[in-house]
Amino acid sequence: MELIASLERELQQLDRQSLRRRLRVAETPCAPRMKVDGRDMLAFCSNDYLGLASHPLLIEALQEGASRYGVGSGASHLISGHSRAHALLEERFADFLSPHIESPRALYFCTGYMANLAVLSALAGRDADLFSEELNHASLIDGARLSRSNLKVYPHGDAAALEQLLKASTAKTKLVVTDSVFSMDGDLAPLPEMLRLCEQYGAWLVVDDAHGFGVLGQNGRGALEHFNLRSPYLVYMGTLGKAAGVGGAFVAAHSTVIEWLVQRARPYIYTTAAAPALAHALMASMDIIDGAEGAQRRSHLRALIAQLRSELNLQRWKLFPSDTAIQPVIIGTNEEAMRAGAALYEQGFWVPGIRPPTVPAGTARLRITLSASHTGQEVSQLASAFNLLEAFA
Ligand SMILES: *Cc1c(COP(=O)(O)O)cnc(C)c1O
Repeated sequence: MELIASLERELQQLDRQSLRRRLRVAETPCAPRMKVDGRDMLAFCSNDYLGLASHPLLIEALQEGASRYGVGSGASHLISGHSRAHALLEERFADFLSPHIESPRALYFCTGYMANLAVLSALAGRDADLFSEELNHASLIDGARLSRSNLKVYPHGDAAALEQLLKASTAKTKLVVTDSVFSMDGDLAPLPEMLRLCEQYGAWLVVDDAHGFGVLGQNGRGALEHFNLRSPYLVYMGTLGKAAGVGGAFVAAHSTVIEWLVQRARPYIYTTAAAPALAHALMASMDIIDGAEGAQRRSHLRALIAQLRSELNLQRWKLFPSDTAIQPVIIGTNEEAMRAGAALYEQGFWVPGIRPPTVPAGTARLRITLSASHTGQEVSQLASAFNLLEAFA
């Protein structure tokens, strides 16, 4: 059939550019030691930054949640799917973020992708100006498109360029949208300067803290705690499938913003509520993040990050300047990055290669992510493997 043949030709084109992606099948829980397609691997790819994805207390809480609330929610939140488990979790998030957001309320979403679509499409319409950082996550880009607002992209980390755009805007509604930690680079947005600009020019600041929530800040409250920010202009999105180890996301903001999302956010309204048992498991995750164990895990993770950066000794390849658990090694061409990734894989190290269009052309990379469940010895093994591989590549 011609339709199929045409897709086949496009797929072959991807092969020629070393851009064809493939799925690997994990046969064990998300953890540093995994069985992947039948092989034992040491994994440096997950976003399970605190090592909670297979934590015994969370497994137990998920089971308890299923016994108490059943398996499915049965309906969307506004019909009959909003369970006590969701409501308690939302109160917990509002309380947790209360040092940083005035009159806080929180809303739980099935995924971070949907939360971003929801926030941008509900807060920005056709007559709004939406200022988006050039390295923003795909879900923010798609949310901006869904909102049909006027999109203005500003260069990475460039608050001065953002100010010029804000100054020139005559739109009544302005939305500045950014990742806090950039997911492919690991660096941080200059949030204090950005918030100052948003307050000056009367714009919302939407912060996607997918890689900061649970990890950054003394208490794991994320980027807002890291930078010590508090403002009614902040609309905060934290995902729960990364450091929190489960899945879903939440938006925390002034209670009026959240009430508006409940009324208007289509990705919230027109979808079945996530299983209440997941919300119940997330309460156990919050107990850990907010307690002594969370603090210990964050401090171990910080030590591993420093260790990896000091033990990697690269000449041609470039370790990105990042203080977070995301430590990309920039290799350059798609072919060399994929070859390096395959060589590491052969040695039992699972480090994903990231290629365009996820990152700019010519900056294909191996993206190392560290977790509090790694040991110092495992990090040393990875660093030696990288050092040797580059020397002989
Ligand atoms: C992972 C991620 C998302 C999407 O969150 P999910 O819960 O996985 O859908 C959004 N933004 C950023 C920056 C992310 O890294």
